[in-house]
Amino acid sequence: MISVDFDCQSCGACCAYNASWPRFSTETDEELDELPRHLVAEDEQGMRCYGDRCAALSGSVGVSTACTVYDIRPDICRACMPGDGACLEARAAYGFSL
Ligand code: SF4
Ligand code: SF4
Repeated sequence: MISVDFDCQSCGACCAYNASWPRFSTETDEELDELPRHLVAEDEQGMRCYGDRCAALSGSVGVSTACTVYDIRPDICRACMPGDGACLEARAAYGFSL
């Protein structure tokens, strides 16, 4: 049985497991304009990543993390819920409990 009692603030795996994940989708131009340019990818199609990690993520994955643009984060980030497919894939990639 899959537990969905995950603590995102001590995880952060979904923000740091795949550079192609935090892409823009249904945001308006006005919403995207709010994001700091240095946190947006060169192709402007998603968040800038360093390796697999989103540039907006602070802290240490699996210890303590936070999104530094939480209030204006992309829609895909808003849609990701603890226990859903993307979450479980990310946690599995890090070897975290499922
Ligand atoms: S991988 Fe899951 S538990 Fe971890 S931060 Fe993302 S949504 Fe939360
Ligand atoms: S914008 Fe925030 S929530 Fe989205 S991947 Fe980056 S750190 Fe995670």
